[in-house]
Amino acid sequence: MPQLTRSRSKSQDAIDLEERYGAHNYHPLPVVLDSGKGIFVWDVEGKRYYDFLSAYSAVNQGHCHPRLVKVMQEQAARMTLTSRAFYNSVLGEYERTVCELFGYDKLLPMNTGAEAVETALKMARKWGYERKGIPAGKAKVVVCEGNFHGRTITIVSMSTDPESQGGFGPFTPGFEVIPYDDLAALDKALEDPHVCAFLVEPIQGERGVFTPSDDYMPKAIAACKARNVLFIADEIQTGIARTGRLLCSVPDNERDPAKRPDAVLLAKALSGGMYPVSAVLANDGVMEVFTPGTHGSTYGGNPMGARIAMEALAIVQDEKLSANAERLGHIFREEMNRLVEQHAFVKLVRGRGLLNAMIIEPREATDGSPLTAWELCLLLRDNGLLAKPTHGDIIRFAPPLVITEEQLREACGIIALSVKQFGQA
Ligand SMILES: *Cc1c(COP(=O)(O)O)cnc(C)c1O
Repeated sequence: MPQLTRSRSKSQDAIDLEERYGAHNYHPLPVVLDSGKGIFVWDVEGKRYYDFLSAYSAVNQGHCHPRLVKVMQEQAARMTLTSRAFYNSVLGEYERTVCELFGYDKLLPMNTGAEAVETALKMARKWGYERKGIPAGKAKVVVCEGNFHGRTITIVSMSTDPESQGGFGPFTPGFEVIPYDDLAALDKALEDPHVCAFLVEPIQGERGVFTPSDDYMPKAIAACKARNVLFIADEIQTGIARTGRLLCSVPDNERDPAKRPDAVLLAKALSGGMYPVSAVLANDGVMEVFTPGTHGSTYGGNPMGARIAMEALAIVQDEKLSANAERLGHIFREEMNRLVEQHAFVKLVRGRGLLNAMIIEPREATDGSPLTAWELCLLLRDNGLLAKPTHGDIIRFAPPLVITEEQLREACGIIALSVKQFGQA
């Protein structure tokens, strides 16, 4: 009897398994990753790639940072979870570290980004009723068109993306959507005395690194303060050195509370890709609305996550990742702007620090097949660099922040080659 099984690649086998047994809620680029170190990842066939997605900026510190592996192993062998029914020996030290670093009075620990957003919404509503005097059940949160804050029912209730929202109603009420980067629209929305908060991303990452005017953040903060409305910065993707400073919404040295967000949401790089850890930061006057029994999470504040997050933040400081992101970001955009000059279909490069995107004009190949951002990402993959296409015409480039200038220039060479091949296809 001949063998009935075909000889197939390891990659194809892994893809087939996910297709067969996994829910199809993602459409991954066809590459099967097996290991990672620093800025590189390797597929199951042993091919090496530059990682220019960094798990949506969760691995700012690079894959498997040895310091994170070490504390994770140590803490795993010591204690991982106590629940908040008891105190643990790490949480308080972690909370102090983060509060001192970011300049806030208090931290509320959760696990995922979406949970941090949900926590902030609950905090803002309760603050609205108890401190601002909004009548019961009337609190409103202002958000922006094109936002991405996560995937829960309440969060997709404020989404303007039909794919995220469609089919999931009925939705949570109490949101008003205004255009992004539009201070006049914000001023008008804030006139409503029932508004308790403005929730905004300093750069809209999922929209395609949609970058607002330089004065949008400071002026939006001032507008909110003037109306006694909480300014909540969703820094889940932009925070922790990604855009060349600790937080994208405010300069590192700005300590005047009147010029800073009332609440900051962190997740992703807070734990360097090792373990889900998220946090809401706020000052006492706001965070005090939470009292025992009003909010919580079984895993939130666990010693494992707390220990890892402390180390992840220490790495960002010790390795000066903000400064590296700022410096290399300029080089990256300079290199990419050459491609804008050389190729008519490369429209624009935008971003801050090492959170950038290239916008291309999709077209059809001579045989009629589509040539979109997806096809360009396949070329990048073949040439050894992984990046994420979005909306058909946008490619996000966000390498781990531990990348060196030499490596960045090599990666720019791969992008230039792939863009050239795309132009000839
Ligand atoms: C990723 C992200 C979230 C959601 O985080 P999860 O951990 O995936 O729930 C929220 N806001 C922004 C800006 C994000 O980029």
